[in-house]
Amino acid sequence: MDDKVVLKNITDDSGPPRTKFANPEFTLTGELRAAVDPRRLDTLWINTGSLCNLTCENCYIESSPTNDRLTYITLQEVEGLLDEIEQEQLGTSEIGFTGGEPFLNPDMLPILQQCLNRGFQVLVLTNGMNTLLREREKIEVLAKEFGAALKLRISLDHYEEATHALERGKRSWKPAIKSLRWMSEAGISYAVAGRTMWDEDEASMREGFGRLFAEEGIDLNADDPEQLILFPEMDGSLDVPEITTSCWTILDTNPADMMCASSRMVVKHKGDTQLSVQACTLLPYDQRFNMGSTLKESWRSVKLNHPHCAKFCVLGGGSCSA
Ligand code: SF4
Repeated sequence: MDDKVVLKNITDDSGPPRTKFANPEFTLTGELRAAVDPRRLDTLWINTGSLCNLTCENCYIESSPTNDRLTYITLQEVEGLLDEIEQEQLGTSEIGFTGGEPFLNPDMLPILQQCLNRGFQVLVLTNGMNTLLREREKIEVLAKEFGAALKLRISLDHYEEATHALERGKRSWKPAIKSLRWMSEAGISYAVAGRTMWDEDEASMREGFGRLFAEEGIDLNADDPEQLILFPEMDGSLDVPEITTSCWTILDTNPADMMCASSRMVVKHKGDTQLSVQACTLLPYDQRFNMGSTLKESWRSVKLNHPHCAKFCVLGGGSCSA
């Protein structure tokens, strides 16, 4: 995805074309670029691999049945990360898993068991297809032993089947609903992630999801933002202003609230022998945001020289520079 981001080229008479977001220290206008200092590694995200059994229209990581740019992480590699958290006393409380589809990873269940055994809160983002349903019994055993420490979050883009299918394909609706009903009946801790990309306001989306949950016997409260999370659409092609150090004051925004102040995402780039710790979940491929191969090495300041930093994290629709 990052390769496809369209950046604004600005040409002047005195030299070659220059580009916004290129220099990690300065913006195109020569102002000091904003950076985020690490606070505490509250959440470690682990990418399980970019392969997925669906090909969604707007998948931010471009997951598909053929995209293996991020390869499967192994149980042994995850154990190494958990050891590092302990040895370095990083204070991490939550391990989040995202893909691709995490349950395609052959080590997924032993990985979950390991994280839960070591006392972490675990969150798994899944599409709820048959790969998840196949593991029902094992997940129920984990849920029985660890209760709400294990949470699954199912992606259901819209409360109407036809609209959801526009994004995820026609065969994606029924298994997702079946998964939600199963989790509801089995007493598993879970939530739904939808999208606000349909020209529909949040109140109407929550009302629609509320109707769906009632009809399908899904025991979630659509008005609770922790039970139904609505994500805005990510359009990486939009031109956005750069973020300078003065933006924090102008926007009254705290850098410590940015995701990269309290989390990292570990990925395994295809062909690499070692893991890569990326600054955040939004930038899995961009080598400028590869912070190193260990958590300790990655725990340093992040320069915000990507359009995503502006659009999705700092500005939130506002503006503080040209
Ligand atoms: S997109 Fe940029 S600002 Fe947002 S979390 Fe990632 S590195 Fe930080």
